Amino acid sequence: MSNRVVRAACPHDCPDTCAMLVTVEGGKAISIRGDPDHPNTAGVLCTKVSRYLERTYHPDRLLHPMKRTGPKGAGQFTRISWAEALTTIAERLRSIAAQDPRGILPYSYAGTMGMVQGEAMAMRFFHRLGASQLDRTICSSAGGTGYKYSIGAKVGTDTEQFSNAKLIIIWGGNPIASNLHFWMQAQEAKRRGATLVAIDPYRSLTAEKCQIHIALLPGTDSALALGIMHLLIRDGLLDHDYIAKYTLGFEQLKERVAEWGPEKTADTCGIEVVQLEALAKLYGEAAMRGDPVAIRLNYGVQRTHGGGMAARNIACLPALVGAWRHAAGGVLLSSGDSFPKNTRSLERPDLRRVDSQRVPRTINMSTIGDDLLRPGSAEFGPRIDALIVYNANPVAVAPESAKVAQGFERDDLFTVVLEHFRTDTADYADILLPATTQLEHTDVHATYGHLYIVANNPAIEPLGEARPNSEIFRLLAAQMGFDEPCFADSDDELAAQAFDATDARASRYDWQGLKQAGWMKLNVPDAPYAQGGFHTPSRKCEFYSERMQQDGLDPLPAYIPPHESPRTAPELARDYPLAMISPPQRNFLNSTFVNVQSLRATESEPHLEIHPDDAAARGIADGDRVRAFNRRGELQLRARVTDATRKGLVVALSIWWKKLASDRKNANELTSQRLTDMGRAPTFYDVLVQVEKSVTPP
Ligand code: SF4
Repeated sequence: MSNRVVRAACPHDCPDTCAMLVTVEGGKAISIRGDPDHPNTAGVLCTKVSRYLERTYHPDRLLHPMKRTGPKGAGQFTRISWAEALTTIAERLRSIAAQDPRGILPYSYAGTMGMVQGEAMAMRFFHRLGASQLDRTICSSAGGTGYKYSIGAKVGTDTEQFSNAKLIIIWGGNPIASNLHFWMQAQEAKRRGATLVAIDPYRSLTAEKCQIHIALLPGTDSALALGIMHLLIRDGLLDHDYIAKYTLGFEQLKERVAEWGPEKTADTCGIEVVQLEALAKLYGEAAMRGDPVAIRLNYGVQRTHGGGMAARNIACLPALVGAWRHAAGGVLLSSGDSFPKNTRSLERPDLRRVDSQRVPRTINMSTIGDDLLRPGSAEFGPRIDALIVYNANPVAVAPESAKVAQGFERDDLFTVVLEHFRTDTADYADILLPATTQLEHTDVHATYGHLYIVANNPAIEPLGEARPNSEIFRLLAAQMGFDEPCFADSDDELAAQAFDATDARASRYDWQGLKQAGWMKLNVPDAPYAQGGFHTPSRKCEFYSERMQQDGLDPLPAYIPPHESPRTAPELARDYPLAMISPPQRNFLNSTFVNVQSLRATESEPHLEIHPDDAAARGIADGDRVRAFNRRGELQLRARVTDATRKGLVVALSIWWKKLASDRKNANELTSQRLTDMGRAPTFYDVLVQVEKSVTPP
């Protein structure tokens, strides 16, 4: 039997967006590997996606539409036809829309990063319906907002250039687990003599392998950046020419950081003064020697109250030392704005009809727990009567999980879920629709970690009766009687519209050609801000931001402390003295892959890492069953007593499916719905808890 090799793209919420090669024999995918010719992928897929075939052909795949037969959350369903599913959904949506279409809410995020199976046909449908809009804040909006106040756009150092840097600061991320191909570049830089520094409250797999690790207190990254600025200015480690030509507000910044001397900074961050002094010296002196110095900033820094300000402050550092002059210098949070996406063509917001009686409504996905429980009111608008969930698993992922589950349990809520599996969220669906995986549909991908557009060709036929998201929304549109021609666009036609080929960055974009080639690099400069040209209103790196002032924020870099920490909430800390963070497990990707047996077996069960001193004070030994709790909830975990966490900090690697944990709970039982300083994002790593030895038998 002859083989064929299909060019594909990894769809997951990961900055690497790997180019993949899928080998198909007799209609079945038999192998998946990274494209060796794609410069970023370099032939390597991470452990998770190496198991993508196990996931695709998993015996639990949803293969047919289903309707719920038991109580919400019990996961009891019976098979129905597509015709019955579509008719039922259309009838319910039509009746809700007749009252007020804002009672219908789409709920989606990055279960696929594809532009076709993501928000293209889906948003056309919801715009035409007049549904409530969703503020997609759950992961990156705080950091993105802060970063953009300083440098104007989510643009930064090209990942492929990091191997040429002499100093790399990995700030708020664990790339071995969640940005593997950047880590490959960092390792190459290390082999060539570079110093790697990790800034992370937790000694992650990555921090273990860096020469320097600064374990600061959670939520104090913005203070650390202020302290570094103070020392760079105090010691004259500045590129005065770059500052004069390409920055705005240096004198105000100087005044602001004067108060952030080393003692105050070190005390705020819970680190030693010598560590801070050494870090600032390392960064400043390397830059003054003309060495490329680069920061890989990641989203871990922005999951606390002051997360937006932290990203803003850190984004100011390269301009002070002129690091942007080098292609291998600067900072990278995201490359997302490097792509000229045709979002309006794909999503067609013009389909939304103007209704003078109704103010359009946007619901923040990060407060879905509260919002599902809110009654209709003049201020809130109509109660949420229907939820259509796709590319998301909010019952496991959204903060303050008990409230989220309570909301999903509402008998008067009509819930439709498009999924591959019966996830924690799918168990609450009234109608469950089987969606295709990346091997079964067409898509095109931008990314937030490199500079390539990557094509995804279908490798195999859809399994069972699964259908692509795009097709499901096309069918729903037809069922609702939406007859605008855009609802007939095929997936190839959607992909062809995805990028603006009149923009010089993607001038070679041609979907038919890309399907054959697999990927193309954007036409962008190697050193984006070597001569200024920032994407801010002033075209400079804005130490002082007029826009922040207008938005009611401090226009200068500042420190915004956590909502929950022993210093900022001493009364709360009397009952709940330990800070908790819940960064990604290496073998899971958010909540994806938790049900892949070979990967879950590696992680075995939910753990809580706790410092030996904190464990001893509670009589907890390694391997004990423990109970972590606060006012929002509780969960059971297995203790790992380790000095990888600092004293006062516990770590619950995540995100487990609740139904696969012995107590059917995960770390989001303890997280809160309080939001960040900017970007309206959740504060997943801004949590106080207490831990005790569990009396529940294992
Ligand atoms: S999850 Fe990330 S590293 Fe893994 S294959 Fe996908 S893009 Fe590559």
